[in-house]
Amino acid sequence: TIVTRFAPSPTGYLHVGGARTALFNLLFARHHGGKFLLRIEDTDRARSTQPAIAAILDGMRWLGLDWDGDEVYQFARAERHAAVANEMVEKGAAYRCYLTQDELAAMRAEAEAAKKPLRIRSPWRDQVPNEAGKPYVVRLKAPTEGATTIRDLVQGEVTVQNSEIDDLVLLRSDGTPTYMLAVVVDDHDMGVTHVIRGDDHLNNAFRQLPIYRAMGWPEPNYAHIPLIHGSDGAKLSKRHGALGVDAYRDELGILPEALGNYLLRLGWGHGDDEIISLDQAIEWFDLAGVGKSPSRFDLKKLENLNGHYIREADNDRLADLVAARLDFELSESQLDLLRRSMGELKPRAANLIELADGAAFLFRTRPLELDEAAKPLLEGAARGLLAQLHAALDGAQSWDTEALETAVRKVAEDAGVKLGAVAQPLRAALTGRKTSPGIFDVLVLLGREESLGRIADQID
Ligand code: GLU
Repeated sequence: TIVTRFAPSPTGYLHVGGARTALFNLLFARHHGGKFLLRIEDTDRARSTQPAIAAILDGMRWLGLDWDGDEVYQFARAERHAAVANEMVEKGAAYRCYLTQDELAAMRAEAEAAKKPLRIRSPWRDQVPNEAGKPYVVRLKAPTEGATTIRDLVQGEVTVQNSEIDDLVLLRSDGTPTYMLAVVVDDHDMGVTHVIRGDDHLNNAFRQLPIYRAMGWPEPNYAHIPLIHGSDGAKLSKRHGALGVDAYRDELGILPEALGNYLLRLGWGHGDDEIISLDQAIEWFDLAGVGKSPSRFDLKKLENLNGHYIREADNDRLADLVAARLDFELSESQLDLLRRSMGELKPRAANLIELADGAAFLFRTRPLELDEAAKPLLEGAARGLLAQLHAALDGAQSWDTEALETAVRKVAEDAGVKLGAVAQPLRAALTGRKTSPGIFDVLVLLGREESLGRIADQID
């Protein structure tokens, strides 16, 4: 069976590139009825943090990227990694290297002078050590002749001359495993069949394969996916709005299904389909559909998709999300009002912040303070119409949109003005704003007493 994994280093938040890598791994596994695993690569003790781990797990859960089984913590497996390195020494596939810091520095200087990358082939490679008690590192005895070819499922065939692969360190002198060793041992032990990750790791694949070969382990399939770039074509960075997944949720008010759909379409396509649910994506996903060139992150497109998913979303769920963003606690009846308002409010919002902003008028306390844009709407003759509106609405047959519309139209007719000339001051009085949902919906949502009260407040 097919096994994939997402292997983030918990040195920061879960960024969109990582989330997309996780998504592709999940989709590929689910499509094939396989497993999707999570491994936290926390071997870098200085840079790995508990908050980063929490943010990664939280972000993945929020996006619905549910992994199978418990997550694996790489650092906890250090003994196993070291055991493999020692086994490789015994097999002659790795060796103890006693190069001193000074000797290494000299090699580095020499490579620099020759303007060549440093590729260490230690003299200890073929020497039987007689250096008992001295510090050493364990190095891979990398192949020196021939070439290694990877048939990458996204990049195609990629070949590297083996002379370019160095004798990388597997175990440091303090006995701790290196990242390169840990990745291979973990992927093997976890039964990973497909390594799907960013193409910044393609070079690493050539350094990792010799470890599989030395151990006689089956080699994984590789799929190195292009990185995400900013709208200007440069590698995605904070400057482009490359935020943590949590920032898209908290600061930009994006729904998880919108971000998931957007990340899916970023670098993978299925014809012209734009709106693709997770279930549909599982059915359709294949690595052949992953493009070879970097895709550009476009916040505008994400917001458009988000607007779509907000319109589609269940009203009660949206109301709860909005309520959580307000800086005051809603009473039961206010929450109910919020739920009833969602149908009118959600078509106007591209994100939850706009949605919360649009809902704000519902909970304002009387007398309303008008914002700057609304103030002119109640200047001059307009304010005079409020008294007539108050009387007309007070006398409306019933408090529904139809009866209210009839009443408001009558006021406009009697005053010899267009509906808008009446509706705008009414809107300002009811919401304190220049824009809002349809004015008759606003009246119904606020109810008779509150509406008449707000209008009365604005009559001199
Ligand atoms: N931990 C690595 C990273 O976060 C990924 C390693 C891998 O996928 O093999 O970039």
